[in-house]
Amino acid sequence: MEKSRIEYLLKKIEEQTSNAGEEQEKILENILKRNAETDYLNKFLHGQTDKQLFKKYVPVVTYEDIKSYIDRIVDGEPPNILTTETITEFILSSGTSGGEPKYVLSTADCSQKRASIPMLMEAVMHKHIEGLDKGKGMYLLFSNPDFDTPSGLKARMFSSSYLSSPTFKTTLFKTVTTPIEIILSLNKPQSMYCQLLIGLIRRHEVLRIGTIFASTFPNCIKFLQDHWKDICSDIRTGHLSDWITEPDCRTPMLSFLLEPNSELADLLEPIFKNESWEGIITKLWPKAKYIDAIVTGSMSQYIGLIDYYSGRLPIISTFYNSSEACFGINMEPLNKPWDVSYTFLPNMAYFEFIPVDKESPQKAQKLHFNGVSNEESIEKLENGSAQIVDLVDVKMGQFYEVVVTTLAGLYRYRVGDILKVTGFHNKSPKFQFVERQNVALSIDRDKTSEADLSKAIKAAEIELEPHGFLLTVYSSFADTWSIPGRYILFWELKLRDSNTDRLKLDSNTMEQCCRRVEESLDFTYRLYRKMNLIGPLEIRVVKFGAFDELMNFFVSRGAAPLQYKTPCCLKIKEAIEILDSRVVGKFFSNGNLA
Ligand code: AMP
Repeated sequence: MEKSRIEYLLKKIEEQTSNAGEEQEKILENILKRNAETDYLNKFLHGQTDKQLFKKYVPVVTYEDIKSYIDRIVDGEPPNILTTETITEFILSSGTSGGEPKYVLSTADCSQKRASIPMLMEAVMHKHIEGLDKGKGMYLLFSNPDFDTPSGLKARMFSSSYLSSPTFKTTLFKTVTTPIEIILSLNKPQSMYCQLLIGLIRRHEVLRIGTIFASTFPNCIKFLQDHWKDICSDIRTGHLSDWITEPDCRTPMLSFLLEPNSELADLLEPIFKNESWEGIITKLWPKAKYIDAIVTGSMSQYIGLIDYYSGRLPIISTFYNSSEACFGINMEPLNKPWDVSYTFLPNMAYFEFIPVDKESPQKAQKLHFNGVSNEESIEKLENGSAQIVDLVDVKMGQFYEVVVTTLAGLYRYRVGDILKVTGFHNKSPKFQFVERQNVALSIDRDKTSEADLSKAIKAAEIELEPHGFLLTVYSSFADTWSIPGRYILFWELKLRDSNTDRLKLDSNTMEQCCRRVEESLDFTYRLYRKMNLIGPLEIRVVKFGAFDELMNFFVSRGAAPLQYKTPCCLKIKEAIEILDSRVVGKFFSNGNLA
């Protein structure tokens, strides 16, 4: 990216964040002016465009509240029941609990905003890390098929929409090693193979390794383990493996495998043959300066795995985005993953915030800040005793649930994410992502959130360290068939210094892990355990690669590989069976909790 372009983009961020209040006023004014006559807004505002009336009369909603409007548009009714803007496509959000994707209306303005975020971030990265223009990024990026809706418009994941956007094709794509045809290929294994092969052929140009969400990494490492011999053989012979048959992948590869390169194959093979793959990323790509992948929120479970394979290269979570709206970017990209905050960009949407009582003493009696207490917040909002606040009025240290209003027909829509204010960039707040407002596990009246489960597992992981084990990925489910019900965790482990998949698990250590998880869960869980209303927690260790099968299952049901987030908690029977059929050891918490 040219210096003048970087400066221009950085200046734009400064201007926008300095005028956060004005930008937000402008955006709401514009939305109301354009959409006051839609069926939806008209019902509450009767054609008026006053901002105060909007806040007073338009309700705060969830997807379920507006689903009937969206379904009508998907089925072919004119979109002006929600927006007067021209709808260009539907974006499918992965943010569901019931397994069905949510449809989000998208306009040219939405696509342009979505595409502008990586551009702005690119400028921020250039500011913080020198010399990025001297090389490329090996980004593992995959597209997903779109499908037609009865309205005649296509529906697709936001990652697919972004990858085929003009902004990506004409600008950002130039910063990556892989040709666009391969990125847009719908054959994921062939695309992954070619992306890695080109990345290795161009290894001396590679200054960063990336994807969007960190959950792509374990999949990529497993793929390399299964295919490195073919990759090295292709490099050695200058001939692409015959199983790469897709023209989208095969044709562009021809310009990379021009002639045999035994020198490179000789260099790579010993790296792959090494018993330990610790730090392999830096050995394969010695000039890589950082890993670009989102590791905040539920993605934090991959930090250990990425640290292990990358030899602790900085991991940079660049932006916070959703299918419904773009939120913000990480203005201090070199902060440690646990200290990442995202600065909200005030021209992306109109943002409001529901205060969430995270530190309430009630929590000790079980009223979590997720689910339950948020319902309380909404109740309070309805009876006027709590105040939903504007972007510029959020308070340092306070927790909030984010609510968005967009030109594309979302009005006071609860995205479902809980954020904490950690500071301000000019007048715009910076937020730490706390969690998706999901109750992960629930038995009886105990409700354990994703964040609480993640913290408890982190505490237990310490038990594994002296034995050389690394927890690479986990999931869970609430076994409500047992009496009493109990929580079951699936863990995929690997040995730090070896790639062997034959693990000798020490039952004392594993039982201690079960116990540490239980001890680290909250007051109500421990109370219910002591009262025997919840049974002993169980850890089921699964074979290496089991979670890849889980991902394949969700992808076969329509999940986008790039947007895939390993479910923290499984609710679908077939998904539980996939992991259950790959269990190599079962361990239980024993004894009484202190
Ligand atoms: P989707 O609906 O598939 O677009 O997913 C959007 C959701 O992914 C957001 O609402 C968040 O819950 C999550 N998400 C997106 N960006 C981040 C991030 N940087 N850190 C943590 N979670 C994120």
